Amino acid sequence: MSVTRSGLQAPRMWLGGEPIPALSGQTFEVINPATEEAIAEVPRAGALDASAALDVASEALRDWRGMPGIERAGLLHGFAAAFRSHKERLATLITQEMGRPLVETLDEVEWCAAIYDFYAELGRGNQGHTVSPGQRGQTNYVVKEPFGVVVAITPWNYPLLLMTWKTAPALAAGNTVVVKPSELSPLSSLAVGEIAAGLLPPGTLNIVTGFGHEVGSALVEHARTDLITFTGSTQTGKRIAVAAAERLKKVHLELGGSDPLIVCDDVDLDVAARAAAWSAFLNNGQVCTSSKRLLVFDHVYEAFVDKLVEHTRRLRLGNPMGPDVDLGPMVSASQRDRLEAQVAQAASEGVRFRTGAARPSHLSRGWFYEPTVAINVGRDSVLMKDEVFGPVRPVVRVEDLDDAIRTANQTPYGLGASLFTTRLDRAMEASERIRSGTFWINDPLTDNHAAPFGGMKASGLGRELGLEGLDEFRQSKHVHLNHRVEQKSYWFPYNWETGRNKNS
Ligand code: NAD
Repeated sequence: MSVTRSGLQAPRMWLGGEPIPALSGQTFEVINPATEEAIAEVPRAGALDASAALDVASEALRDWRGMPGIERAGLLHGFAAAFRSHKERLATLITQEMGRPLVETLDEVEWCAAIYDFYAELGRGNQGHTVSPGQRGQTNYVVKEPFGVVVAITPWNYPLLLMTWKTAPALAAGNTVVVKPSELSPLSSLAVGEIAAGLLPPGTLNIVTGFGHEVGSALVEHARTDLITFTGSTQTGKRIAVAAAERLKKVHLELGGSDPLIVCDDVDLDVAARAAAWSAFLNNGQVCTSSKRLLVFDHVYEAFVDKLVEHTRRLRLGNPMGPDVDLGPMVSASQRDRLEAQVAQAASEGVRFRTGAARPSHLSRGWFYEPTVAINVGRDSVLMKDEVFGPVRPVVRVEDLDDAIRTANQTPYGLGASLFTTRLDRAMEASERIRSGTFWINDPLTDNHAAPFGGMKASGLGRELGLEGLDEFRQSKHVHLNHRVEQKSYWFPYNWETGRNKNS
């Protein structure tokens, strides 16, 4: 990779297997959130670059979709192996560009490899099905065909994982892909483009970098785009859905969330509090399925809050590249500013903070924020109504399970929900009544790539992962085959005595 005169990394975009600058020659800086220093200059693509990327993806489509499944699976397994052999490099780039501790980003890369392996086999072994024919001498079957050129737009919080949730099934289904990573975290995606260039046919997987309102919207609106798969905020998702609707393009949306975590009065409170500290503050709460509203049964409330505060105070903030760190910085100054505005509004509503609610005094650089436990929170507080994408979590009393379920359902979102209980009746009732795409009982935030993931209500349309995640990128074609060329009784001219009984 080349470097700029000031020593910054200067990676190129990947189009048709070639490293390419933006046609305008423009670049933008990527900042390390732990140091607030620029670490790279990457191409700032626009509408012409979007068009060029879609052209090469269209050209590559014929060969890729026509490739025998076993051959395609072999290439995708090879790509999975490359993730593993480049694990340190990819994990380091993710940590540097968005601030998650290295121990987590190493795990992210490993997970990407596992997902490529999973979809390599699922795509190969799952091409459709047969249905029973209407008449003797006929065969009917359903083939799963790719949509064509897929545009994948991704956020910054799990840059490679969320890109993989889209690219692995899209490629396994026979589509070609143009990825537009977040402008905050493009480096790891560009490195994957470089790896792909040596392994996949040119044009199969292309990476363009730039801003949402420039290259992002150009990709969405372009006539060559057949399907848009997007992960990001609900606000951007709505904008993309409107643009896609005007052009009648299929759109798949993974959007925001405000997940509840319910703690019943029948569990070990220390275990529940440790789980809550992890699921609320993992990645500084910048997870779509973070436990964002903690709903605790009334008579264990005080004891639970004390334990949660104790475990939260133990979390270690610091250099995400170093050992012994639980939390790095938030991703950007603007994300932290937005969080601080929400904290100020909550304080003006009478919310009190048992710990946190400040920048850490021992870290002079980096966009750090102390994990924060909020109490005295009304049900219509900003912390309960808006998505809080940072390390601030309200803990709210609920009277009983019914009250917990009603409160859990009171937001427009429906991504995930978690519950701690030892009672089967409570677990089953909550899992049936809470409207969420995932429901975790006694083990929040544990995804399984063989099972679907996605949101109800304003949290999205469609599913990633599992067989459902492959089907998002395929359309069904019914093939009707009459074994012989023969005249049918139901063709013209009609016979009033025998009727048009074509299905007998
Ligand atoms: P964002 O909506 O600001 O940006 C996401 C991506 O969309 C970026 O690549 C951005 O450049 C692009 N974009 C912005 N405007 C665009 C436009 N007009 N046309 C095309 N592309 C455009 O979101 P973010 O801040 O990167 O991510 C945080 C949000 O993502 C949170 O709301 C979080 O809950 C959500 N999220 C959801 C999931 C999920 O699976 N449901 C997973 C992770 C994050």
